[in-house]
Amino acid sequence: MDSQNLNPEQPTQFPIPNPDPILPIQPIIQIPPIIQPDMLPEIDNEKSPPDSFFKSKKFYLIVAGFVILLIVGIFSVIYSQNKKTVTNNYDLYTPFPKYVEIPSTTPTLDVVDYGCHSPLAQAGIGPFDMCSYRDQKISITEAQSVLNDISLGYGIVLIPPTLKFSHEENYKGISIKWTDAQPISANTLSWIKSALDILPPYFYQDHPVQAIISASATDLGQSHSPESEGAALYQSGLNIFLTSEYAKGSSTMYVVNKEVLVQGLFHEWVHVVQNYEILQTFTVKYLFIPGNASVVMGMSPFNISYAKAAGWIFTDGDWGYATLGTDNDAQKQTDYGKTKYVEDMAESGSFFMLCQNDKISDARIKWWEQTTGTSRNAYCPSKI
Ligand SMILES: [Zn+2]
Repeated sequence: MDSQNLNPEQPTQFPIPNPDPILPIQPIIQIPPIIQPDMLPEIDNEKSPPDSFFKSKKFYLIVAGFVILLIVGIFSVIYSQNKKTVTNNYDLYTPFPKYVEIPSTTPTLDVVDYGCHSPLAQAGIGPFDMCSYRDQKISITEAQSVLNDISLGYGIVLIPPTLKFSHEENYKGISIKWTDAQPISANTLSWIKSALDILPPYFYQDHPVQAIISASATDLGQSHSPESEGAALYQSGLNIFLTSEYAKGSSTMYVVNKEVLVQGLFHEWVHVVQNYEILQTFTVKYLFIPGNASVVMGMSPFNISYAKAAGWIFTDGDWGYATLGTDNDAQKQTDYGKTKYVEDMAESGSFFMLCQNDKISDARIKWWEQTTGTSRNAYCPSKI
C-alpha cells in the first residue's frame, strides 16, 4: 500500500548545534606541579590543554554527539509510531487506493463482530453476527465516500460538488433537498414526511439515508435518466433520488400518489440498508478490488439470510446462484420481487412498513419483524 499521503507531518531536519567552540573551564586553584616543568616533554598548549580529558574539547564534542544521536533516536521512534497508526486507519478508508494484490476468485470475507446482539444474531446467522450501523466507527460521510470511490464497479451517482441546491431541510435527521431545475411540490414533500413518520429507528436512525434528493439528470451530470425507464425513485449509494414526475406529485405518464411514492421510498430505503450492511460486512480493501463491488450484493450474508427465509434456494453454496422456490409461500411476492432476492427484500420491506402484509408470505414478514425489532402490527395504525 502506498503510504505517501499518510504522513501528516514529516519530521524535518534535526537541529544541528551551532559549532561554536566550547572552551574548557580554567581551573581556579593552581595546584603546584609535583613534577618540575623541565622534566616534561614540550607540549603545545594551544592544541591540548594540560587539564584532564573530562574537561577537554574532545570530551565535549563526544557528549554533544551522543546528545544528537539520542534526539535522532527519539524522533525516529515517534515518527515510526505515527506512521504505524495512520497505516492502520488507512485500511478503513483512503481516497486513492493502490492495490497490487491479485484479485481473488474465492473471496475471503472479513467479517467484523462488534459484540452487540442484533435480532439477526438471534436468527442464527453463525459467524455473521451483525448489529446496527451506529456501532460502526465509520461515519455516514465516510460510508458514502467509500461507496463513491467504488462507484465504477458499483454504478454510484456522484453528486457534482458544484451542484447548487435551492432548498435544503432536515426532517427527523434526514436531509431533503432539491435544485431549481426540479423542485419538490408541497404535496410530495408532505408524502415524504409522512413516510419518515412511519419508519422505525432501524431505518431513519440506524441506517439513515444521506439525503433525499430531487435533481435532474443534467444537474447530476448523467447522460441517462432512470426516469426514462419509468422509475419513480432510485437509490444510489446512501442517497435516494426522486424523478421529476414524482417531485411534481402529478403525472400524465404514471400513477403518482402518496401510496406509490411512500412504497417506492421504503423500497429504495431497503437498498440503502443493504449498502450499509455491505460496508459492515466486507472490508473497504476487499470492495476496492476490481470486480468485487459488483458481486457483494449477492454475497452479502444479510441478503442471503433474507433470501433463505423468503424461500430462495441456493444451488451452489451460499455464494452462488439462487432460484425462488415454487411453493406457495415462496411465490407470495410481486413479479418484481421474484426477479432477484435483493429486490424481493426491498419489496417485502416496503409492504411490511405499509402494513400490507397480505401481499407477502408470513416468513418474509417474520424476517422483517426480527430484523427491525418491531411487530407487524406496529405500522397498521398509521396506514397510508
Ligand atoms: Zn429495487
